[in-house]
Amino acid sequence: MSQVFQNTTTVLPVSSTFKDAVELITQTQPQLNIIEQYWASWYHYMQNDILATGLLFFVLHEVMYFGRCLPWFIIDKIPFFRKWKIQPTKIPSDKEQWECFKSVLLQHFLVEAIPIWTFHPMCEKLGISIQVPFPHYLTMLRQITIFFVLEDMWHYWAHRLFHYGVFYKYIHKQHHRYAAPFGLTAEYAHPVEVLSLGVGTVGMPIAWVYFTGDLHLFTLCCWITLRLFQAVDSHSGYDFPWSLNKFIPFWAGAEHHDLHHHYFIGNYASSFRWWDYTLDTESGGEAKVSREEKMKKKAEKKAK
Ligand SMILES: [Zn+2]
Ligand SMILES: [Zn+2]
Repeated sequence: MSQVFQNTTTVLPVSSTFKDAVELITQTQPQLNIIEQYWASWYHYMQNDILATGLLFFVLHEVMYFGRCLPWFIIDKIPFFRKWKIQPTKIPSDKEQWECFKSVLLQHFLVEAIPIWTFHPMCEKLGISIQVPFPHYLTMLRQITIFFVLEDMWHYWAHRLFHYGVFYKYIHKQHHRYAAPFGLTAEYAHPVEVLSLGVGTVGMPIAWVYFTGDLHLFTLCCWITLRLFQAVDSHSGYDFPWSLNKFIPFWAGAEHHDLHHHYFIGNYASSFRWWDYTLDTESGGEAKVSREEKMKKKAEKKAK
């Protein structure tokens, strides 16, 4: 029996198809909203929470990642959008995209086979809830905002470390194969890098629930989806007048990360600009000029 219902006395007949499960839950649980009903139907239909959570995460990752890459693949084919391409002369070829797609897909299957079986038991141990109804949307929003800030901090320092000598040579170099990135390259990286940077995405929510005891699996699904979108978009290679960084000035976006791939140095953070700005690691020509000016002023002051 699934743990998806808070009331353990809720005993429902087993459904032989997912459609039957949806019908049953819709009729017996009308107080739930439609997403909660589908969520409960999935767990009820599976009758195996470990597999239900594992498969849910695997499918979520594949659909959201490749689904988000698809519009960028199409945009690369349409010359109209070229005026917003950050490195306009570097359009990825079909061969490059295909090679990258195959490599990322293979890695997903190899690296994610283990978490599929271990994720649910870990959730249970940590107290991550799978029950319906979901938490209030403001609680979810608050937690997701915190995860964005924490992941960005982790990403900044881990990524900066990956640019040192041996770490770069043996691990991070793979991700820098494309000096002009495209959506699919977001997860094109050495498995060690995928796991280390994944700590920021999955490890931070785990640390959060360890200290607060308050996290729902649906919140985690929403966070991972948004984080995947952020990663794919920052590798898209396009900076539009309607891109998020034009409305939220501290949002990094593609413009920030594209410069990192172009110059191989600076702009180490993932979602926000504050770490690179404060610690003077911004990338690109403009940042270099301002850094040199600062150093010159400092030296002049010292000489006086
Ligand atoms: Zn890098
Ligand atoms: Zn990158």
